[in-house]
Amino acid sequence: MGAGPAGARAAWVLARQGAQVTIFDASHPREKPCGGGVTGRALALVADAIDATSCARTPIHTARFVRLRACAASTGQVRLPARGASAGQAPDRTGLTRESATVDLDRGALVVASRAEFDAALLHAAQQAGAALEPARVTDVRVDADGVTLETRHGRRRADVVIGADGANSLVRRHVARPFRRDQLSIATGFFAHGVTSTEIVIAFVADPPGYIWSFPRPGHLAIGICAEATAGHSSEALRARTAEWIDATGIARGARLEPYAWPIPSLSARDASELTVSGSRWLLAGDAAGLVDPITREGIYFALASGQWAAESLLGDRFASTYASRVAEEAGRELARAARFKAGFFRPTFINVLMRALEQSAGVRAVMADLIAGRQGYADLKWRLLKTFEIGLAWRALTSSSSRPAL
Ligand SMILES: Cc1cc2nc3c(=O)[nH]c(=O)nc-3n(C[C@H](O)[C@H](O)[C@H](O)COP(=O)(O)OP(=O)(O)OC[C@H]3O[C@@H](n4cnc5c(N)ncnc54)[C@H](O)[C@@H]3O)c2cc1C
Repeated sequence: MGAGPAGARAAWVLARQGAQVTIFDASHPREKPCGGGVTGRALALVADAIDATSCARTPIHTARFVRLRACAASTGQVRLPARGASAGQAPDRTGLTRESATVDLDRGALVVASRAEFDAALLHAAQQAGAALEPARVTDVRVDADGVTLETRHGRRRADVVIGADGANSLVRRHVARPFRRDQLSIATGFFAHGVTSTEIVIAFVADPPGYIWSFPRPGHLAIGICAEATAGHSSEALRARTAEWIDATGIARGARLEPYAWPIPSLSARDASELTVSGSRWLLAGDAAGLVDPITREGIYFALASGQWAAESLLGDRFASTYASRVAEEAGRELARAARFKAGFFRPTFINVLMRALEQSAGVRAVMADLIAGRQGYADLKWRLLKTFEIGLAWRALTSSSSRPAL
């Protein structure tokens, strides 16, 4: 249920093996509130099903990291450095400009896709493989010993098993398990800036809420946003105002028509990611419905695709519920738990200071961040790789800044 990346991928795998599959989703064609950043690993995973080059997408050549000083933002002095400026150059008088570093990305590391087109291509592939699409919203799900009953406005349907691939507000999750608690969600909010685009993503670190404002250039518009934990006390309106202020101050979307959006993103703690509930006797949860989003990079598309595939492959074998739960724990849960542990230290101002300086000065650190953006850098050895590549003084400072030591 749900024809986003998780549901469409699961349906494609199952239908190709001859299973009878119906996808329920009334929303297509639709643009999902999302950065639309599709990593090289996600593109590689679906290369057997779709030609992603035929979807509208922006290949990303560079990622620009900026440290946003609150005083600069509030006085309207923020200016992004001129495109092409090398790391750390100061083409204007603001402190921000001096704290900017550009990371080159190799070809295929990251594209920013139109979710309307990328998701439609995945759905089309599933239909071509033999899955049926029922363009209806499911309003109720009941699981019993023999199967599952789904209620739609077109009537009642029965199935042996349901895959809940219905996103962060998952109806299936609410019926078969527990909905996400507020502390398990972040709110992402911002604007689509229509009429401007780029080949560069911008990551502007902010201290409050701890994290960053991003600008992802989709074909025809920039997706600009900020994310905060739902329990952190920031309203959507306040976060959006913060983003608007940044847009205004940087001039990144001058002349654009701004369309606001807000959407939840699962953001699990290390403990929650280690104790995922993803399957039962007649159901499986995949993608956002299972909580599978990297809490630092917010990469969810890869995990949605991968978990959709694991759900389908488990269903094609024996004891699907336990097989699937083990695979999700092994291949996603552990990594997301590591990311969650890493997160608090990562966004601490002391660490961001060190990181920004290292990005300016060290090609090795820029290579690590390029790999993180491309989904190629795991969290298990991120700390060690960063420390190895830091210049000795920087590493020393990271380790010894006593009062606020980064909790890596
Ligand atoms: C602002 C923002 C920026 C993001 N940026 C990125 C990024 O740059 N890169 C990245 O990898 N991830 C990003 N993510 C995360 C990413 O969008 C999700 O992780 C991903 O879309 C999850 O895919 P999914 O298939 O699980 O769910 P979804 O893509 O949400 O699809 C769920 C589908 O289920 C359908 N559905 C819901 N309820 C029902 C119902 N009752 N009946 C029938 N159908 C139903 C919906 O219509 C929808 O089509 C971002 C998220 C947000 C909010």
